[in-house]
Amino acid sequence: MVEIIGGGLAGCEAAWQVASRGVRVTLHEMRPVRATAVHKTDRLAELVCSNSFRGDKLDNAVGLLKAEMRRLGSLVMRAADASRVPAGAALAVDRELFSATITDAIGRHPLISVLRGEVASIPESTKESPVIVATGPLTSDELASAIAGLVGSDHLYFYDAISPIVLAETIDRGRVFRASRWGRSLGPTAPASGVDDGEGDYLNCPLTREEYDRFYEALTTAESATVHDFDKERFFEGCLPIEVMAHRGRDTLRFGPMKPVGLVDPATGREPYAAVQLRQDTLAADHFSLVGFQTQIKWSEQARVLRLIPGLESAEFVRFGMVHRNTYVNGPRVLAETWQVRSRPSLFFAGQMSGVEGYVESAASGLIAGINAASLTCGESVSAPPRTTAIGALGYYASHANPNRYDPSNITFGIIEPLAGAPRGKKDRNLAIADRALADLEIWIRGRCLALDGRESVPGTDLVDFR
Ligand SMILES: Cc1cc2nc3c(=O)[nH]c(=O)nc-3n(C[C@H](O)[C@H](O)[C@H](O)COP(=O)(O)OP(=O)(O)OC[C@H]3O[C@@H](n4cnc5c(N)ncnc54)[C@H](O)[C@@H]3O)c2cc1C
Repeated sequence: MVEIIGGGLAGCEAAWQVASRGVRVTLHEMRPVRATAVHKTDRLAELVCSNSFRGDKLDNAVGLLKAEMRRLGSLVMRAADASRVPAGAALAVDRELFSATITDAIGRHPLISVLRGEVASIPESTKESPVIVATGPLTSDELASAIAGLVGSDHLYFYDAISPIVLAETIDRGRVFRASRWGRSLGPTAPASGVDDGEGDYLNCPLTREEYDRFYEALTTAESATVHDFDKERFFEGCLPIEVMAHRGRDTLRFGPMKPVGLVDPATGREPYAAVQLRQDTLAADHFSLVGFQTQIKWSEQARVLRLIPGLESAEFVRFGMVHRNTYVNGPRVLAETWQVRSRPSLFFAGQMSGVEGYVESAASGLIAGINAASLTCGESVSAPPRTTAIGALGYYASHANPNRYDPSNITFGIIEPLAGAPRGKKDRNLAIADRALADLEIWIRGRCLALDGRESVPGTDLVDFR
């Protein structure tokens, strides 16, 4: 038997995967007995905000992730495909139909029992009866305390203060210079490899007074996305949104994240009036994040405002900044790539709680956690798909990124293992990576199926007819 806490996207996907392997599941969902600040219904897998599952083409990383999940018999993808509404190249769903479809499929599965009520502590787990915690960004307070007790309160976070991330190849290298504060400036011709040599680790965007004024004006007049009550909660001083800082005074940013002190621009031989620092993401070598630029500005506005920064005029953003309530563990400190807690392998974390970001990513982690939890009960070995796949790369990132500044991530091509000799054009390169991913996933599936039950089959497709 596998016990799963949380009937959201990750918990439902995990339950389906476990039950599809003939193993019993008890799925705990606290709604409607206990509400969250955001969910509105008692349905399983309720989408709390947008109805979009984002891109659905193979040259898009989340499109590849979806293709892999379909291949793995994902319940969430089957429900999403069945409730699809027109949205161009994206997959958007009728949210009512989507969660009704999942609620119905889970409710009718003979091996899944749904118990409504809050779970306030982490249940005992053994190899024969593993537990998956998938309680999401709005995990109830008592359970969050219990999780903090298990993983250490330093490794459980309650807020996300995420800075925007740009694609390296879209930064104008002629306008930025490479240098660490007080360190040696290597100039704009320095190699863009991002190799951390202890000096010159940052790309710096220098601003003149006029450029700063223009940016400041745009920032302080941009529209903010303050959607939910918890956004009114007080921010920790350490993760104030830049626009909140800017409203405190015209020069506040110049003494904070845009401080130019110790940064000499080789083009002028002087410190600029202000500077924005870009730091290479640890695993995704082709991504840079804007240091200290967490923001609540609406995504459409962020692109406009941030492109006023010299060097970022044509920047492509792989992730926008945000600040919101989010309960998640420091994956690299706590988890293995199989989504097991390293110090207690019969316990899994999945979904937003495990340090991923987004509906699809949450379901994907639940999918692998479910497969592995079922394997444990059968005495089989556990494993993660290879890092050449999107779903394997996601687990690797969540368990191996730099733990000292861990940020939950959406899936991007930047965290998938690079492909040697890939075509130069972005679309062709992504398609080549996608081809390799699907081929490698196939090999993993075959290996896992043989390990599971000694016969070749596609997991997660039998036992219950899906309407
Ligand atoms: C305000 C907000 C807006 C968001 N908007 C988007 C968006 O537009 N697009 C996107 O991709 N992602 C968005 N996210 C992230 C989103 O929450 C996740 O992508 C996704 O819902 C996570 O799935 P999950 O299964 O981990 O958590 P959830 O889907 O939240 O499921 C967790 C479940 O656990 C239950 N639960 C909590 N505590 C307990 C307990 N102690 N006992 C029993 N049950 C419990 C909850 O009731 C909930 O049903 C948003 C998050 C927030 C907070």
